[in-house]
Amino acid sequence: MSEQGIDTLVNQWVRPEIKGLSAYHVPKASGLIKLDAMENPYNWPDELLSAWLGRLRGAELNRYPHPQAPGVQARLRQTMGIPEDAGLILGNGSDELIQMIAMMLAGGNRKILSVDPSFVMYSMIATIAGMAYVGVPLDSDDFSLDTEAVLSAIDQHQPAVIFLAYPNNPTGNLFPVKDLVRIIEAAPGLVVIDEAYAPFTDASFLGRVGEFANLLVMRTVSKMGLAGLRLGLLVGAPAWIDQIDKIRLPYNINILTQVSAEFALEHQTLFDRQTDAIREQRVALFSSLKTIDGIRPFPSEANFILVRMPKERAVEIHGSMRESGVLVKNLHGAYPLLADCLRLTVGTPEENQAQLAALQAALQSA
Ligand SMILES: *Cc1c(COP(=O)(O)O)cnc(C)c1O
Repeated sequence: MSEQGIDTLVNQWVRPEIKGLSAYHVPKASGLIKLDAMENPYNWPDELLSAWLGRLRGAELNRYPHPQAPGVQARLRQTMGIPEDAGLILGNGSDELIQMIAMMLAGGNRKILSVDPSFVMYSMIATIAGMAYVGVPLDSDDFSLDTEAVLSAIDQHQPAVIFLAYPNNPTGNLFPVKDLVRIIEAAPGLVVIDEAYAPFTDASFLGRVGEFANLLVMRTVSKMGLAGLRLGLLVGAPAWIDQIDKIRLPYNINILTQVSAEFALEHQTLFDRQTDAIREQRVALFSSLKTIDGIRPFPSEANFILVRMPKERAVEIHGSMRESGVLVKNLHGAYPLLADCLRLTVGTPEENQAQLAALQAALQSA
């Protein structure tokens, strides 16, 4: 078949909103200090690696995994303190849970609401699921929540679900509890509080899922140090979780993830030490950034810091840092409010020194 024939068919059949999307882009990072994706920079001590490999020997790759991964569920309930009477469902990353929620609700012009800028998957998955996306802008100076604007958008759009990242990505801030409660109480449908950065803050809604009929709390083990496993979790009233479970593909948590996650969560104290170190490094990195002229770091409760560069220089500085061997995330152009912004992941002390040096060299090179 000719290439033109294929193009015609693709054009005819692929939904226009899919053709309009760009696939999620992950830049090459080989040889670079990778500080663009909020990964935990620490790995495991050798004896732990050996014990893990020993555990993997028992994984029966010829068998389907357990459909509900009860061992992982039990460990998560224990380590995260999930309320006993709450329902729990696992996803192949929390990205998959966002997708399941959208698939449960889509149809009949239903809408997803969030704030802008926030996690890009909310709007991407809305589009993929055929839902409309409503993004309510955050404050253009400090990215704080415009609660009145959110409440009036709720009133106007009657969203089926509201996603709020807490702390927010890519801005790093927490929204005030009392404002989130007002939103939960005003929402006609679901509210999902996305706590992907829970290991880096003391704030959480997990203990409050029983208080509101429409509240779900989502978490992931990715940012804590297990991004490679792809494991997210959603907590809420069993009546909601039971419905979402119908959308979940039967074996969405593969056996290597189940065995590895169970093993890793038996060693939660290791991750706690690592994430505590990252929190300390966040404080140090933020103070260093504060001393650099011409840039503005935004306070963060997560394992990254959003920084505004001098006007019209973010792209060049990002490129120059990469040439110095440090990969961070350029957000200039992603959304109007993020003009001139880069997002720096908090790494090890050595990595942070390297990214500070790269940033300072880039700033001075104009
Ligand atoms: C990173 C991130 C996620 C994605 O988590 P996975 O479990 O790796 O899919 C979800 N929400 C927010 C806000 C994030 O920043």
